[in-house]
Amino acid sequence: MPESTSDLGFLSRAIHAGQQFDPTTGAVVPPIYQTSTFVQDGIGGFRGGYEYARSGNPTRDAFQTQIASLESGAFGTAFSSGLAAEDALLRALLVPGDHVVLGNDVYGGTHRLISKVFGSWGIEVSTVEMADRDAVRAAIRPTTKILWVETPSNPLMKITDIALLAELGHEAGVTVVVDNTFASPYLQRPLELGADVVVHSTTKYLGGHSDVLGGAVVTNDEELSEKVRFLQFATGAVLAPFEAWLTTRGVKTLGLRMERHSSNAQAVAEHFAEHPAIERVYYPGLPEHPGHELASRQMRAFGGMLSVALKGGGAAARAFAESTKLFQLAESLGGVESLIGYPSEMTHASVRGTDLEVPETIVRLSVGIEDIADLIADLEQALPR
Ligand SMILES: *Cc1c(COP(=O)(O)O)cnc(C)c1O
Repeated sequence: MPESTSDLGFLSRAIHAGQQFDPTTGAVVPPIYQTSTFVQDGIGGFRGGYEYARSGNPTRDAFQTQIASLESGAFGTAFSSGLAAEDALLRALLVPGDHVVLGNDVYGGTHRLISKVFGSWGIEVSTVEMADRDAVRAAIRPTTKILWVETPSNPLMKITDIALLAELGHEAGVTVVVDNTFASPYLQRPLELGADVVVHSTTKYLGGHSDVLGGAVVTNDEELSEKVRFLQFATGAVLAPFEAWLTTRGVKTLGLRMERHSSNAQAVAEHFAEHPAIERVYYPGLPEHPGHELASRQMRAFGGMLSVALKGGGAAARAFAESTKLFQLAESLGGVESLIGYPSEMTHASVRGTDLEVPETIVRLSVGIEDIADLIADLEQALPR
């Protein structure tokens, strides 16, 4: 085990960053420090800086080192959920009277958090088409503090040029935040492209097995990271030791999983692009996708998420989502098993009636890493004929 992992490649860092063997026993896998507090050698004599598990726990630290390394960031902070991570980040960056510009198809929960929770504390929000440079520029006000983007977006898989957005944000003195949940750092690293902060729902691809909830904030800005850490310490939404350990375990295979998620999703997209029951497939790996060229430059592969619009309207879309067998009807994404969702009544129910509303014809697939022939057969049998 090398002293520093910073010279290693991505796949090696996924396995070794923050994962030193246990010095007491030699256990190859760092243990789960299932403890709420730490003995002091005399008052204030902390071992390794550990005092109480809300302020720090070695298992959480191991994951924080791992995720920071993979996102090419200096500082990572792990939370009990993606939304808890977003909440701390927003509090660190905003004061009453400030304004946030959000992409117009960000995760519904992000919009709900900012408009419904922060709204009553005097924060204003606008939603904008992030791929439209002029629209973004026009949306920025003197009080704007944050540009917040998801790319690929949810559920229409729009691609935004992160480097361009970062440039635009920095011209206006605005912090550029990328929710990198859909791509994961294996496919795309926003900090390398100029973004200021990455947030994650580690519940999805990073955990990767649909068995743990978590979130993370990663940045190279030390002052911002300290604010986020202080807010987490003061408010308490920490990632618990067992959840940190499970997430770390998932991350070790991130690269392998993302390769298979991407190749399976590409095969599904190509198979259904010409299907008589399907109006349109939204997947950046298809050459006809408007973001294809940009995604080819910005991402290593195109990821495991895709959406389809059904020709038969809302009723056909609902019936399709309820008729697959291998693809299980559930919220969430990014696990090894394939999931199917109906955004307008599931993930995006909270944005019905707003600009972020998702058409009733859309069905979203989180393509897992099962045998591709089984996945295609399952979707085929569920489609109207
Ligand atoms: C799931 C999700 C979130 C919220 O994360 P939780 O872990 O559910 O709190 C935020 N952003 C995106 C893109 C998501 O998919």
